[in-house]
Parts: sequence; C-alpha cells; structure tokens
Amino acid sequence: MESLEGKRGIPRIRPPFPAVVGLWGGPTVINNAETLACVPHIILGGAEWFAKLGPPRNGGTRLFCLSGNVAKPGVYELPMGYSLKKMIYEVGGGIPNGRQLKAVVPGGASCPCLTADEIEVNMDFDSVAKAGSMLGSGGVVVIDDAQCIVKFALRTMKFYQHESCGWCIPCREGTDWLKKTLVRFHSGGGVMKDIDNMQYLAENMLGRTFCPLGDAAAMPTIAFVKKFRREFEDHLDGRPCPYDKARVAEPVMA
Ligand code: SF4
Repeated sequence: MESLEGKRGIPRIRPPFPAVVGLWGGPTVINNAETLACVPHIILGGAEWFAKLGPPRNGGTRLFCLSGNVAKPGVYELPMGYSLKKMIYEVGGGIPNGRQLKAVVPGGASCPCLTADEIEVNMDFDSVAKAGSMLGSGGVVVIDDAQCIVKFALRTMKFYQHESCGWCIPCREGTDWLKKTLVRFHSGGGVMKDIDNMQYLAENMLGRTFCPLGDAAAMPTIAFVKKFRREFEDHLDGRPCPYDKARVAEPVMA
C-alpha cells in the first residue's frame, strides 16, 4: 500500500488494520487468490460442508505447490490434513533418478525444514506446528540426497536479503551477514566458528523485527544448521561442496 501510494515500500504499523484504514486511508480488503477461490464453494456448499473437508480447526482444502525433487511437481488442491508422505510419494510420484529423500520444506521458504524421518505428518496447521514447522503458504519443496543443504540455505537467504526492506537493523544486517557467511561457506571458505555464529545470529533476529520477514529468514536457517550441521562441517577447511559432483547430469531442482 505504501508503494502504491508512491512512498517507500515499508510495512505499516498496525492497528489500524487495512480493513479499517488502508489504501489512501480507505477500508481495504487484502486476500490472496486462494482465499477468494474458496468463497463460491463455501456459499454453494455451506460453511459446515467446507469445514468438514479437513480436520477440526483446519477445515477446507489447500493448494499445495509441490516442487523440487519429485517426479510430478505441480499445484494440487488437497484436503487439509492430507499426509505429507502420500503427497510426496503418491501425488508427486516420488523422488526421481533413484534418489532418496533428504528433507522437505513443508510450507514455503520461511518454514523450518523437516528431515526424511519427520514426514509422517498431516498437512494442516496444527499437525505441522506440532512437528516443529509451519504449513505457511503450502509451498512444499522436496530435497533429495544429491542436494546440498548449505547451497539450499544460501539460496533461501539470498531471497530474504533481497526482500528485506532495510527498515530494521536485525533484518537488514542479519540477512546480509547470513548471506555473506553462507556464500563463504559454500565456496569452501567457512570456519567452524561460522556455524555457531549463524545459529546465534539467526536466533537473535527472532522476534526483534518490525514485520515477520526477519523471523521468516531466521527460522529456516536455524533448522538447517541444527538438523544438518554435519553438512556444514563437510564444507570446512577449503573442501569443495561434496554434493556438486553428484548432481551433474541430473535436472536442476526448481
Ligand atoms: S523485518 Fe525486514 S522487511 Fe520487515 S520491516 Fe524490518 S527490515 Fe523491513
């Protein structure tokens, strides 16, 4: 809304919420297309019918954008509470090229990853939260055992560093430091202390920024370092990325 009004693109202080005071000071409804697409079905089928499509407190369907190392990536509308394992191996057709699952990002770039041992989870808000992550935007990214987690973490951080509006210091500086550290790490210039520093830096961004983007950048980093510390250690002492070679002649991950 700030950008549309010709101002610097930073978040607004809430309240007042946009539905009360929004664009040009008028009430403004902001919804994504997925929400609006549900409205006709709720009107035609009734709220109770729609709610019963999913588990209690997590009714309806969800558009899951399944990408990464699956045979059949795509956008799938599934009932809330659908099994993540079935989504990967039945809906998505499994992991191609004879590879094994390494990790899944269950709900978009800001969500802590789940390891291959943690995919027995139903895809609704409460269940994914219980598993230590978030359903988020429904963007499910499948990562196979030929992918480098350090590179994946770097790609994620490049996105957040670019998206940071630069207003708050923890987000502006934190995303930049994390990106620079991950670049150094992935190119073999990392030192052991960097691993703990990344964790410390990301933990200190949590809850200290004006909008949720700071948390969104920190949460996946914390999970990558915590769950795949070994992979970070594999890049130490000038060693080249051990996964780059394995990916040759395989399709590039989306
Ligand atoms: S958290 Fe990041 S994106 Fe959000 S207001 Fe602060 S600097 Fe801007």
